[in-house]
Amino acid sequence: MAEEEKKLAPNGGYPMHTFEDLKELYYVYIKSEAGRKMIEDAYLLAKEKHDGVFRKSGEPYIQHPIEVAYILAQLEAGPATIASGLLHDTVEDTDLTVDEIRKRFGDDVALIVDSLTKIQRMKLSKRKEIDFEAEDHRKIFLGMARDVRVILVKLADRLHNLRTLDALSPERQKAIAQESLDVFTPIAHRLGIYTIQSEMEDLSLKYLEPEKYRKILELLNQREENRQGSLTALKKRIADILFEHKIPFRMESRVKSIYSIYRKMFKKGYTFDEIYDVLAIRIITKTEINCYEILGIIHATYKPIPGRFKDYIAMPKPNMYQSLHTTIVSGDGNIYEVQIRTEEMDKVAETGIAAHWRYKESENYNAKEEQRDIEEKLHWFRDFVSMSGEQSGSAEDFMAALSNDIFNANVYVFTPMGKVIELPTGATTLDFAYKIHTKVGDQAVGATVNGALVPLNTVLKTGDVCEIKTSKTSPGPNLGWLEIAKTSSAKAHIKKAIAKREASEGTKEEAIRKGREWCLSAFEKEGIGPGEMDKMLSDEKVLSYYRVASKDDLYAQVAGKSPTPQAILDYLNVRREKRKPRLGKAVQNGGVPVEIDGGEGVMISLAKCCTPIPGDHIVGFVSKGKGIIVHRANCPNIAHSNRLLSAKWRDDLGVVGTYPVDVEIYANDRPNLLADILVTLSSKNIVCSDLKAHLIKENMNCVVEMTVYVSDALTLDDVFLALKGVRGVYDGRRVIH
Ligand code: MN
Repeated sequence: MAEEEKKLAPNGGYPMHTFEDLKELYYVYIKSEAGRKMIEDAYLLAKEKHDGVFRKSGEPYIQHPIEVAYILAQLEAGPATIASGLLHDTVEDTDLTVDEIRKRFGDDVALIVDSLTKIQRMKLSKRKEIDFEAEDHRKIFLGMARDVRVILVKLADRLHNLRTLDALSPERQKAIAQESLDVFTPIAHRLGIYTIQSEMEDLSLKYLEPEKYRKILELLNQREENRQGSLTALKKRIADILFEHKIPFRMESRVKSIYSIYRKMFKKGYTFDEIYDVLAIRIITKTEINCYEILGIIHATYKPIPGRFKDYIAMPKPNMYQSLHTTIVSGDGNIYEVQIRTEEMDKVAETGIAAHWRYKESENYNAKEEQRDIEEKLHWFRDFVSMSGEQSGSAEDFMAALSNDIFNANVYVFTPMGKVIELPTGATTLDFAYKIHTKVGDQAVGATVNGALVPLNTVLKTGDVCEIKTSKTSPGPNLGWLEIAKTSSAKAHIKKAIAKREASEGTKEEAIRKGREWCLSAFEKEGIGPGEMDKMLSDEKVLSYYRVASKDDLYAQVAGKSPTPQAILDYLNVRREKRKPRLGKAVQNGGVPVEIDGGEGVMISLAKCCTPIPGDHIVGFVSKGKGIIVHRANCPNIAHSNRLLSAKWRDDLGVVGTYPVDVEIYANDRPNLLADILVTLSSKNIVCSDLKAHLIKENMNCVVEMTVYVSDALTLDDVFLALKGVRGVYDGRRVIH
């Protein structure tokens, strides 16, 4: 009976692919006759050799190499890699020899299959044991490091085995899942092959922690159901705005992987609701500049959560990942992460290093070329590993650095709480400190190892229990620490801390001068002089965008190379573009300080539905009989109108007046809530009218509607901020009628 069931879903419920399916996949990008023939020959040979053999899960053995090759073709791997995927088990499991493979398929395929066979044999001697030894892992790494294509095939092999674990005993399932997390997902991560990494992690977790896995799955499904409406609304709104700005884009939403949620909940102690990026919106656009434009628009429309903005475009992750991340509060109070990237960045984010050498027919492709390309990319990759460029070197240096941090990760040290920290051979207590946390590293003064007090340069060995002593008054990292630390991550942190201290010690004026000089030379190329530049960079919006208090702080940051003068110019260009085209004379009309392109002499009024105020992005709507009505640019009432004129607030607003804005405040109801809201408003000298409050019975929440009178958008932000300081108030927003 059980056998019957297994036959129904012999592939762990995954769809099984035929060779025809595989062909369909690679025919799209492999056009050469020779390449196609190589793969087909490899398939026929593997099929013949594995004939009559079945997997534990019941299907013919050839199914496994087909699936491995299918995963490789999804990464757009070249013919030699796919052929190796099809043949990867033949030398180990059949009478085929490496020499025969070399004769029929050439050196590359032979070398890859040979390496895979050796890795397999290393394990064979241990097959009866459940636990794998660190030494085995080291050998596996080294075997794979010879040719990156070996890693790819090995990862695909392991992924398919994980997908079909159901047929094995629970002990084997757990051992293979654990080994995948210890060995293979770190490699996939380091090479940026996210698709394989995340699927492997989720599958491993499913076998190692089945209950937690199910629990998270449940929470995710609930959240998705609850959020469906909110998510759709947010996506529509963003799409509308981006259309309006004529920026090319496509949008996806993505759910955080189960394993990353597991780590946040069970390793870092977050509750499910504290994980902000469970649901994320991904906006994929054309150019890098588009990415920053979109970011600007998103931040102008939604309140970003402080400290959550990350610019991985300017500072890619060591595995080449590039994207902008920000977290925003949507109109209905839900929190979403927004990821912004180009198509190419998206490809790299999904398949990492595989994206960089994915098979390209047009480039006179051959196997040597493929390998050369890999090394070139790895060379580039290495520059990110040792971020501050210690010394330039060859691909061997890169491999050495990589082996040091990952491939040799075979010392396992325990924290007093029993957590295992993986370190390379020769790593010291200082490396351990930085592995725990950057702050622990920066404030480290000593350590205890197995209860004895030791200095920071003590070399650790497997089984040591280590605790770091920190002091807030520690003088912090110095150049000597660079000798003590062995891991490149610790070295990078130490260099950063030293650079940061040097930048802040008395040399701030120097930094400001340098930063201003750099900016000036960039600005002058754009025809902007020093006076105008200082003025532009003193603008409140610019300062708040870069989260600095003054233009001098901004210059100091430029000296620290982030942001670059060009990035600032790009940002300002976005703003300039939005003001374009240059408008005609100011229209003195009904006291509305708005200039309308082509609207000279026409009556202008402010829309009652969206109540625009200075600082808002606005457009002019040509009404029938009531002149031009100024709306907020994102007002849905004019979203589909073709009678719009560009408009802007006059630089000189004249006598500063106040404008009515309709707002809604959300709060948990309590006695004196309204009184406290009114007191807060009057302390800010804000007048309000038409105040209405109603209670939502189900949850004792209270919605307060009112009209406040403010001079501009910044003041309004300030009002919302003050109101959120009132006990019980959790949100406030403008209303569009
Ligand atoms: Mn295999």
